Amino acid sequence: MTNWKKIGIFTGMGFPIVAFLLGGFLTYKSINSTQKSEELKEEERQELAQEYFGSDLKKVISEQENILGIKHFGEPKLSLGFSLTADASYYPQTDLIKINNSVLLKRFIAHELGHFYADKVSEGLGRGDWPIFKGKIVDGEYGKDDMGLKLIAEGIATYFESRTEGDGLTGDLEHKNFSNYNSIGIGKYYNVGNNLVKPILDKDVRKGVELLVANPPTSADLEDLVGYKKRMLERMEELK
Ligand SMILES: [Zn+2]
Repeated sequence: MTNWKKIGIFTGMGFPIVAFLLGGFLTYKSINSTQKSEELKEEERQELAQEYFGSDLKKVISEQENILGIKHFGEPKLSLGFSLTADASYYPQTDLIKINNSVLLKRFIAHELGHFYADKVSEGLGRGDWPIFKGKIVDGEYGKDDMGLKLIAEGIATYFESRTEGDGLTGDLEHKNFSNYNSIGIGKYYNVGNNLVKPILDKDVRKGVELLVANPPTSADLEDLVGYKKRMLERMEELK
């Protein structure tokens, strides 16, 4: 199938797809009408995503390998999504990055590649897909028991994002107890998570991710993040 025919299929479905390709958010109404009018096949979504974002993915992978001193484990799959609750998502069971909004494409890819890397490191350790939140997707919903996992998963991904984009985030923890962070929404997992894992990953990204995916904070650790961080830093010294 030629490119034009493929684009024809999509633009023939109306404004929502055009809006997506221009990088805008879709309205709930337009998504609903898209789904009603014609279901996009997952295969077609992946083909299109690869076509539009495949070269960006390769570029960010190469940048991260230089900046973070790591080797990525091949490439994740790419797909187009229509979620309003996440700009992009990662699916550990299928190694798939779904792009829902392409406004800050490079930043989203940099973040999701952090999830991909942690998943592949976990698989390499024989620990299986990571993280699994009771069947929920990464950057989507989490259960109440998943707080420690979520903190580490988003910390690692935000670290990848922040280093790739040169945000210059610090590794300082404002509070010892995670429940004392009262910022609204899910942002605190990303920021506190980054500050928690940054000093560990700054030592060695590969070894740090191996250590963290195998030892996420317990509920007791969530009450003493400073102690948890200190313990993980000591383990890093032993791994040298
Ligand atoms: Zn994430």
